[in-house]
Amino acid sequence: MTTNRTVQTAADAALWLAVHRGWHVLPLNYGTKRPLGGCVGCRADNKPDHTPQTCPCLARGDGALCHAVWAATTDPEVIRRWAQRWHTSVWAVHLGVSGLLAVDLDTRPDPPPHQPLNGLPWPADEPPPADGLDTYATLAALSGGTVGTDTFTTDTPSGGLHLLYEAEALRWKGSHGKPRPGDDTVRTGLGWQIDIKAYGGYVVLPGSTSKAGLYRRSSTTTTPRPLDPWLADALTRTGHDRTAAPDARPAAPVPVLDAQTGPARYAASALRSACAELAEMEPDTGRNRKLFRSTTRLAGMALAGWIDRTTVETALAEAARHAGLPAAEIRYVLASGFGRPLAVPDIRSAA
Ligand SMILES: [Zn+2]
Ligand SMILES: [Zn+2]
Repeated sequence: MTTNRTVQTAADAALWLAVHRGWHVLPLNYGTKRPLGGCVGCRADNKPDHTPQTCPCLARGDGALCHAVWAATTDPEVIRRWAQRWHTSVWAVHLGVSGLLAVDLDTRPDPPPHQPLNGLPWPADEPPPADGLDTYATLAALSGGTVGTDTFTTDTPSGGLHLLYEAEALRWKGSHGKPRPGDDTVRTGLGWQIDIKAYGGYVVLPGSTSKAGLYRRSSTTTTPRPLDPWLADALTRTGHDRTAAPDARPAAPVPVLDAQTGPARYAASALRSACAELAEMEPDTGRNRKLFRSTTRLAGMALAGWIDRTTVETALAEAARHAGLPAAEIRYVLASGFGRPLAVPDIRSAA
């Protein structure tokens, strides 16, 4: 329930972590646990060069909530203003920019796959895991480590766990540990019901109360410790390390289109930038929404004859696959996006 008290508790906790730990925090929508919407101008801006890095709202530094997690701040004045203005009891930390990596262990009631660990056979004498906590404990044991809750740890209302570690901001890639539909083996991330969140990813902070209940810090320490060596090794083995050998991970698929002029060039550039952005998105940062919005924009351009529909579909599907969206979901989002093409922007004055 959102009461004055839950709102105050959550904001105080976020403020403390921003001031004392230098974490970049942001308020979330109480119902959806998503970042609050940015300004109308930023949402409507179709220009491919409008990114969080070039956004004038964020550059002002006065607390615009544009571009989701990219609005997160350590500024106490801005945090106090957000708390008064938005009155929400759910706050989050943007992990990567705060120098953090989160191991997010879930307890969804799905049946476990036959092989719950990515790249490691499940021990024959071990019962199948009941949830992400089980999967992670077995991975730790097989790797010669322990789960180690002596770092900053949060209990989630559903019985899950967030383990926060100090980690290089740009080094680690996020992932989602689940089998693809129809597959009985986990081939992405660390393992079943284990999500890794880092750059571009966020987790709800302890002290927050969502619809599901209270997020509670369960560690005595309020300081995240450096990644356990066994965990860093496991992350590297499963392709999470951006600094590993370049052939360890395929480059983001960015379509190369021939030099063109006018609207065709504009559309090609819009497609390229949509794909580049989408391909690097982490789980739970709105990949699905981003794919849909990019599709509606480019569908309009295809309808206007600026770009070929198949080119758009192929490139966006490839980028979305790279970001880890399941094939069935990609097909569905593309089809619904093409069903709702946006009017093309007036680019005569932009050239
Ligand atoms: Zn804005
Ligand atoms: Zn903006």
